[in-house]
Amino acid sequence: MNVLKNQIYTVTITDMGSDGEGIGHLEDGYTLFVKDAVIGDVVKARIVKAKKGYAFARLEEITEPSADRVKTVCSFARQCGGCQIQALSYEKQIEFKNRKVKNNLIRIGGFEPDFVERLMEEPAGMEEPFHYRNKAQFPIGTDKSGRLITGFYAGRTHTIIENRDCALGAAENRKILDIILDFCEEKKIPAYEETTGEGLLRHVLIRKGFSTGQIMVCLIVNGASLPEEGVLADRLFERIAGMTSFSLNSNTENTNVIMGKKTRLIRGQERIEDTIGDLTFSISPLSFYQVNPVQTEKIYAQALSYAGLTGEETVWDLYCGIGTISLFLAKKAKAVYGVEIVPQAIEDAKRNAERNQISNARFYVGKAEEVLPEKYEKEGIYADVIVVDPPRKGCDGACLSTMARMKPKRIVYVSCDSATLARDLKYLCGNGYELVKGRIFDNFPQSVHVETVCLLNNRKTD
Ligand code: SAH
Repeated sequence: MNVLKNQIYTVTITDMGSDGEGIGHLEDGYTLFVKDAVIGDVVKARIVKAKKGYAFARLEEITEPSADRVKTVCSFARQCGGCQIQALSYEKQIEFKNRKVKNNLIRIGGFEPDFVERLMEEPAGMEEPFHYRNKAQFPIGTDKSGRLITGFYAGRTHTIIENRDCALGAAENRKILDIILDFCEEKKIPAYEETTGEGLLRHVLIRKGFSTGQIMVCLIVNGASLPEEGVLADRLFERIAGMTSFSLNSNTENTNVIMGKKTRLIRGQERIEDTIGDLTFSISPLSFYQVNPVQTEKIYAQALSYAGLTGEETVWDLYCGIGTISLFLAKKAKAVYGVEIVPQAIEDAKRNAERNQISNARFYVGKAEEVLPEKYEKEGIYADVIVVDPPRKGCDGACLSTMARMKPKRIVYVSCDSATLARDLKYLCGNGYELVKGRIFDNFPQSVHVETVCLLNNRKTD
């Protein structure tokens, strides 16, 4: 087909891609990718970029809305990069995510479709799929009139869309942002400018322990201090119930990474606490902590059940963060060893073990792909079960090959990116393991992201 830029086509959306974009076909099977259109919509779409067999098009008008289309809760849903599929009913969001994971297991993992169908257990969605996030990071900028603004980046850009009422975040966020921005306007403290490297205010990080009500605010600045920071601390502690920790993080680099390495406490405690199940965790600003506590509890319970512990096992928990999974495992295992790259998180993990009177967990700082092979080659460490929970890029090859050589009876893989999960499962299944169960957990409703937990058994020791 001869499709040209700016032409408008009417198309029925029959599928959705992994980033939530609507997919429809014109004559000859020519494919249109239409962002913001959902499965079942009939839309008019304007061609933005045309290639040989496909084109990217912009949604101009919904001529027949899909039966699964819902009114978005947030009026910025379309511009903001956070909620790619808020316009799709929640039930269909779960179906979309389950299908996305299955497709990746088939296409990237090389598993048979029938096998994948049998493998995947009932998806675990949320009852209340809004206001579930315990953490938010708001960029600060300036509008055309020079006023300080905060909100969210428009999808794939660094343009800030002003919005202090995100439908995914905690109710307190708005008030905290109002206090901080009013204070900075009053004291004429400028926002950081990416292009010039000037200005001070970069981001506001807010974290809330949902079960304890404790709130942490960390201001990320292009410098070492904030004028009259004590005054801002007074206001936050006076006006925000649950305010527990206020700190300043310095990030003077020209980078997309939000947090710098140095954090200085201004008022309160360095860490906030939260509880998951019957364990209490201390969390410092630089440590990773799961953003959806309701779903996290379900994931950890699943990981624990897949681990099949009797009290006799030695378990390695790779990418352990502040030791959350490790400590749940430790209560049911003989010994647990956690590995994590961020030193502050390991400090938190050790503190958390002590706090919960768990004495059979040890933690190591370092890269999983370095610590594990080194301990295996030099000390001949052993594992009955290995649990991994890597970031989106998945496990490093050296980590996977060492796991295969250590031959644990079971491997539990917790993943936040099903493409890298499928890649890593393919390797493990080619190296002595068999995939026996899998289940998705919707930790990120309204977005295209999804968590998956899988169980692999060693073929020989089974
Ligand atoms: N299991 C934890 C953390 C999971 S997030 C929890 O449920 O809270 C992934 C963690 O892996 C992060 O804490 C991150 O800092 C850490 N990480 C990233 N790359 C790593 C690597 N190469 N080796 C070890 N840890 C790594």
